[in-house]
Amino acid sequence: MAKFNENYLQLKESYLFSEVAKRVSAFQQEHPETKVIRLGIGDVTLPLGSEVVKSLRAAADEMGSAETFRGYGPEQGYDFLRSAIKEHYKELGADLDTDEIFVSDGAKSDTGNITDLFSKDNTVLIPDPVYPVYVDTNTMNGRNIVYINANAENDFLPMPDRSVHADIIYICSPNNPTGACYNKEQLKEWVDYALENDAVILFDSAYESFVSDKSLPRTIYAVEGAKKCAVEFCSLSKTAGFTGTRCGYTIVPKAIVSKAEDGTEMSLNKMWNRRQTTKFNGVPYIVQRGAAAVFSEEGKRESNAMIATYMENARIIAETMDKLGVRYYGGINSPYIWFECPFGMDSWTFFDFLLEKAGVVGTPGAGFGKNGNNYFRLTAFNNKENTTEAMERFAALFK
Ligand code: PLP
Repeated sequence: MAKFNENYLQLKESYLFSEVAKRVSAFQQEHPETKVIRLGIGDVTLPLGSEVVKSLRAAADEMGSAETFRGYGPEQGYDFLRSAIKEHYKELGADLDTDEIFVSDGAKSDTGNITDLFSKDNTVLIPDPVYPVYVDTNTMNGRNIVYINANAENDFLPMPDRSVHADIIYICSPNNPTGACYNKEQLKEWVDYALENDAVILFDSAYESFVSDKSLPRTIYAVEGAKKCAVEFCSLSKTAGFTGTRCGYTIVPKAIVSKAEDGTEMSLNKMWNRRQTTKFNGVPYIVQRGAAAVFSEEGKRESNAMIATYMENARIIAETMDKLGVRYYGGINSPYIWFECPFGMDSWTFFDFLLEKAGVVGTPGAGFGKNGNNYFRLTAFNNKENTTEAMERFAALFK
């Protein structure tokens, strides 16, 4: 038998959502009369906007006609979509070249795939708690991971520690699971630290469209120097309801260069292009047409309306927390609300308590890292009626 990659033995069993599902199902069997409300979901619930659907339909018709049929497309994405993304970045305060933009089938694949471009002996800095993909993909490659604590002391926004060296740094802002969002000055510190360490920042901006505070950056390229050290991953999953349709984009600036041991200059942009043209055959034409509609004026109005709906739910959750005096993070520029478990419970105990006593499902913070052991995540992705009812039941627990 071939030798398997033993790094996979180092992966922790990813049992978070299956364990949640198991406990909810057991509860529902015992209490069929209870209407369980799910505020644990990280998936969107609103359907695609009508502009997107119109474009998907028109593109499907094109594919069904000999004159307009398309086969393989460019691995990097069609120009019509890359240009729309370039314009979007301009609005966010960043000037990109079209060939720095790579259309993807989502941020999950690319945050994982990017690890192909880095040597095994890099030190990787990852915040705890965190979106688990960063940890797992580096573990699969056998890399050394150094964790940086995100906790109440730093408002879940850890800053660089100059005494620690890192080669690769993961940052997600607005953050999943904590909802915390870096300001420009804080991101500038990270960029400066990366430049001092000759490190690369892998910046996940999957939730940028939830940022309503105009003073907060929605891309790391709003920060001076970022183009020399940061790769950015974004996604239409949460912006426009593309979790099932699948489309995102990754920005690999041409200014990120390094020297090989023999002195050969290496460009991360060229390497990513080489990787994608070798291992990826592009996002479906139909999906890219739907994605381009997200960036049209009408498309933007529709996704802004979706986000406003979710953020109204976030406001309801946050307002309840305020009334109860529960300290929380997120919920303002993010669809996630992260709070310390009440009554001194750990996160799985609180999960069971909330389910048993209120019929409400959330996500135990322990699933995102050790600093989440006493924290809990609620999301704004359910509907208003359910969110309101869930928070009334939540508040009743404090009486
Ligand atoms: N990055 C973060 C921080 C996420 O929370 C998610 C999804 O939940 C993703 C990336 C994945 O996005 P996509 O659907 O584009 O793969």
